[in-house]
Amino acid sequence: MINLEVPKKFKPLVSQAHQVATEVFRPISRKYDVAEHEYPKELDMLAALIDGMNEGSDLGGAGASGVRRSASDKDSGANRNGTNLSTVLSIIELCWGDVGLLLSMPRQGLGNSAIASVASDEQLARYEGRWAAMAITEPEAGSDSASIRTTAVLDGDSYVLNGEKIYVTSGERADLIVVWATLDRSKGRAAIKSFVVERSNPGLKLDRLEHKLGIRASDTAAFRLEDCRVPKDDMLGSPDVDVKEGFAGAMQTFDNTRPLVAGMAVGLTRACLEEARRRLDEAHVPIDYDAPALTQPAAAARFLEMEADYDAAYLLTLQAAWMADNGKPNSLQASMAKAKAGRTCVEVALGCVELCGSLGYAENDLLEKWARDAKILDIFEGTQQIQLLIIARLLLGKTSAELR
Ligand SMILES: Cc1cc2nc3c(=O)[nH]c(=O)nc-3n(C[C@H](O)[C@H](O)[C@H](O)COP(=O)(O)OP(=O)(O)OC[C@H]3O[C@@H](n4cnc5c(N)ncnc54)[C@H](O)[C@@H]3O)c2cc1C
Repeated sequence: MINLEVPKKFKPLVSQAHQVATEVFRPISRKYDVAEHEYPKELDMLAALIDGMNEGSDLGGAGASGVRRSASDKDSGANRNGTNLSTVLSIIELCWGDVGLLLSMPRQGLGNSAIASVASDEQLARYEGRWAAMAITEPEAGSDSASIRTTAVLDGDSYVLNGEKIYVTSGERADLIVVWATLDRSKGRAAIKSFVVERSNPGLKLDRLEHKLGIRASDTAAFRLEDCRVPKDDMLGSPDVDVKEGFAGAMQTFDNTRPLVAGMAVGLTRACLEEARRRLDEAHVPIDYDAPALTQPAAAARFLEMEADYDAAYLLTLQAAWMADNGKPNSLQASMAKAKAGRTCVEVALGCVELCGSLGYAENDLLEKWARDAKILDIFEGTQQIQLLIIARLLLGKTSAELR
């Protein structure tokens, strides 16, 4: 087991996040798993507290909105004061508590990360304090986000959006939805832009909320956009269709958000391992870190194997976030972290259920719930297979047209 010490300056943030996970998330975890679609009102007060923490701190945020860059950071490509790292560390703690509740935290949406990554300073100021969801996926465009069909047509001072968006996390509760749409389908990836749409926009019509396997505390919405008018100033990034730049602007968001989702998976994995360890201790199964796994009881050997995977996922996640903070291109490491952490959390959650037998399968404990919550972390922000594809492209120097 590798014990990397948390940097001293981040310790208070990590300890506060852990306290929130223990005292707020865990006690209501099962409640909102059962009461799907009910808003976890306990989070309002917490969100206000976190806003206060973020305002008083120059260390970055406690949730997804923490990935913010100042103008000078943007020029250098770096994030000051380890914003990504502190955000990942606090997300790990909060998801040790509950992933669905973290995703339900007001003003901490993945849309907030998109805004923080690519919005102009004027836009950043305008959207400050708003909760933003992210709408990329469509019925005909999931993994292949370049094939989205939602269109944006300039008409005077507005863009008019038409299309369909599905699986929008926090789509019902957020104030804003960051919608991906194409200016011209014939121009491919380069024409895809993101637009910040007010949730109250009459052209944005909520179709339904999904019923899900896991993360039931988090709402997942499907929308239709019908002649949805969005002021020109609410487009993120440049309106130019630069075929050379292609998807680069939009993809920059993923370099920041994938380590965060990896952090969610790491937090959930640790929760499962700790619970399984408690059960093994109760059953008097010794775990010896100085002896080869094969010489130990089968349950201990299995546990050690899962813990090694956890360590690898944790270290890759910290590396990806650290690189973003230090202005180093991290697309490869962000995908590696997301792939390893997503896969590990599914395997470990099920492995821990298996180790604990019927106790792991019962609803009295949270292991059963964590095994259901885990799967989404290997699906959204790019599935396992898509991360492996991106890693292969980057390592082999192939374009998306060459390796698909
Ligand atoms: C609970 C939940 C919340 C979500 N939240 C959001 C959100 O907030 N915003 C948003 O925009 N989207 C969101 N999504 C959508 C999510 O990002 C997509 O489900 C995901 O990108 C996969 O797309 P898909 O479901 O269309 O699957 P598909 O793309 O149809 O893929 C199906 C399977 O085929 C595999 N596959 C696809 N292409 C390839 C390939 N080239 N090579 C090998 N394998 C491949 C995939 O890995 C997957 O296993 C959410 C989804 C869920 C379930």
